[in-house]
Amino acid sequence: MNEDQLLKEGLKNVGVEVSQEQVRQLMDYMDLVLEENKVMNLTAITQPEEFIQKHLLDSISMWPGEASSQKVLDLGTGGGFPGIPLKIVHPDWDLVLLDSTLKKLKFLEKATEQMELDQVSTIHGRAEDLGHEETYREAFDLVFSRAVASLNTLLEYCIPFAKVGGLVVAAKGPKCREELEAAKNAMKKLHCVLEEVREVQIPGDEATRFVVVIRKTKTTPAIYPRKQGLPGKKPL
Ligand code: SAM
Repeated sequence: MNEDQLLKEGLKNVGVEVSQEQVRQLMDYMDLVLEENKVMNLTAITQPEEFIQKHLLDSISMWPGEASSQKVLDLGTGGGFPGIPLKIVHPDWDLVLLDSTLKKLKFLEKATEQMELDQVSTIHGRAEDLGHEETYREAFDLVFSRAVASLNTLLEYCIPFAKVGGLVVAAKGPKCREELEAAKNAMKKLHCVLEEVREVQIPGDEATRFVVVIRKTKTTPAIYPRKQGLPGKKPL
């Protein structure tokens, strides 16, 4: 099976239909990341087949199924995951990529410009600070995050950005159930509820993966997120 076929098969498996043009864009993005990866550490995955499974399909499978045009945040985007693959599949989204590492954002700006993806912007800084800024607080319908922090810490980063009624969508590994248990108090304090835990199978990849979907039910108390470092050191 060639790389295009592997991607198309995988997309079918995760229940997403895309055009040939979108397949090309996803492959172009892989090429851009792998090229940049020679000079900047964006990913440990360097083989196309594994990249398709662990970055492209893994990112796209996080879509929680809420349609229509959306204001979307990818918090701790790194090399653009899950934000960029999701944006390619949902071109009407207005996507903001947030990270505390400026050089990664510079790469993402260059890559999205080269790929002519519109309605994509970046914000540089830490979630603990940016979550208090009026422009971003309670401004997003969907907040995605992958491989950034354990769920209790992650919710304190993400929930302040979500609109009331909006969703936080996190990718989690085999410790998902334990993380959910440990995040009960955070969910209570941050006024959000567990909506869905979905197990995801990527063809050819044995890893156990879950997508956790959390809905914000009420406005976030002004004290959250606490100051830099605290959500990680002393999770709620
Ligand atoms: N989400 C990407 C992925 O799945 O490949 C990148 C994961 S990488 C392990 C974690 C990223 O989160 C890094 O780029 C780091 O700079 C960013 N990050 C971690 N804590 C953060 C915080 N409190 N605020 C903003 N960015 C943060």
